[in-house]
Amino acid sequence: MSTAPIIGHYINGQIHDSAKRFSDVFNPATGAVQARVALAELKTVDEAVVAAQAAFPAWADQSSLRRARVMFKFKELLDQHHDELAAIICREHGKVFSDAKGEVVRGIEIVEFACGAPSLLKSDYSDNIGGGIDNWNLRQPLGVCAGVTPFNFPVMVPLWMIPMALVTGNCFILKPSERDPSASLLMAQLLKQAGLPDGVFNVVQGDKVAVDALLQHKGIEAISFVGSTPIAEYIHQQGTAHGKRVQALGGAKNHMIVMPDADLDQAADALIGAAYGSAGERCMAISIAVVVGDVGQKLIDKLLPRIDGLKVGNGMNADSDMGPLVTAVHKAKVEGYIAQGVQEGAKLIVDGRNFSVPGAEQGFFVGATLFDDVTPEMTIYKEEIFGPVLGIVHVPDFASAVELINAHEFGNGVSCFTSDGGIARAFARNIKVGMVGINVPIPVPMAWHSFGGWKRSLFGDHHAYGEEGLRFYSRYKSVMQRWPDSIAKGAEFSMPTAK
Ligand code: NAD
Repeated sequence: MSTAPIIGHYINGQIHDSAKRFSDVFNPATGAVQARVALAELKTVDEAVVAAQAAFPAWADQSSLRRARVMFKFKELLDQHHDELAAIICREHGKVFSDAKGEVVRGIEIVEFACGAPSLLKSDYSDNIGGGIDNWNLRQPLGVCAGVTPFNFPVMVPLWMIPMALVTGNCFILKPSERDPSASLLMAQLLKQAGLPDGVFNVVQGDKVAVDALLQHKGIEAISFVGSTPIAEYIHQQGTAHGKRVQALGGAKNHMIVMPDADLDQAADALIGAAYGSAGERCMAISIAVVVGDVGQKLIDKLLPRIDGLKVGNGMNADSDMGPLVTAVHKAKVEGYIAQGVQEGAKLIVDGRNFSVPGAEQGFFVGATLFDDVTPEMTIYKEEIFGPVLGIVHVPDFASAVELINAHEFGNGVSCFTSDGGIARAFARNIKVGMVGINVPIPVPMAWHSFGGWKRSLFGDHHAYGEEGLRFYSRYKSVMQRWPDSIAKGAEFSMPTAK
């Protein structure tokens, strides 16, 4: 019998830690099992939905200002617990502490945005559109919404959803990744301390069983998903088939074009951070450098010493630049891709396999890896590796670079390093990708813009947070009003038009 602590569910303001099934939660830097997370069955999901349904009418009826005040307090508490949250991320995900702190900041920014709910939910009003009639719109909550989130941002991605869903008057059930589930419980506690009524926010831990139960539950109105593309597509199909509103953000293969006129030192620094930061486990990581003209060797000469200087180790060590991968299974998968790259003919310049950190030999580390001469037919070009593996593709000119990127099935993020304004403008206008950086390697939109990719990187109509998030979590209603003493006599049979 394992003595590892149990990470439970949070339903109606209480922790529930009994379960029939559990999954191990590892410390990726040491390889040790540090906890076991409860895996929900249908019954637990149903309990969470019932609690949320019961809490919904009163929460939906609160003024938007009162809901925003809970967010103000939540933001204050997140600030106070910033280091604690970052340490939890570090211990379960493996990323380095400074990066984990950055993740928490990007999550808090959505909470700050949501604090503006009264203003954001203000409606448009058309006075006297004719015949004494006024017309305005309302944005009303949907009901109980659910979010299913990936392992790579256990605080930030849930915070793309929670504040937006709550300030619009919905109740919310979070199903975090079973690989790093603890941060969700601390956030639940902080929401309670911030004054959120029990039942408005719930956490159900679990795997496919819990997700399927959420997808099929009649009490859930909408599902936000962030994760890999095959699961995003499945969630979108199943969720919409069950009558739900769905936004499902999927995987990525992000390119960075390096033009001959780019500042190559800047481009190399940007590539190192964007390819190897968080060990490449970011949906906005750059995994392909598209080098134009004769840039290739010059860029490689700048990358090699930088790769050599990377410090790989436990994320809690202040001097680590890059931590381990999340699990041994994921490490094996990434190493499998490297082997396949070699087999398919790419030139392996730096090999991160068989990488070991002294004193942490059981940790799930893979070193920074660099391939040259990658071509579009190769598996390492086509598929998302989600590890510290950067491939270089050579193209003759800018038009070929754009054509290459536009032909890829993913369209999450992209970047172009250049000093030519005309190229930058053509790039921003013509590239078929949702988030575009010009001399910016990881163009993650701010909280008051919206996050999302194109093509097979997003299924559904809405991007996450910002204006798009507000729309996703609210139902639009148009109201027309005329008071009886001004109603003209007699029925009208033609389509009403403004008079
Ligand atoms: P994943 O798809 O394996 O898991 C995501 C969630 O889905 C988890 O909560 C998991 O429990 C659940 N899940 C897993 N298998 C399932 C199944 N068969 N049926 C139902 N639910 C299932 O993704 P991950 O490995 O946790 O995260 C990495 C992926 O997420 C990468 O592909 C990355 O690009 C993507 N991601 C995308 C974005 C974005 O904004 N587009 C952001 C972060 C991560």
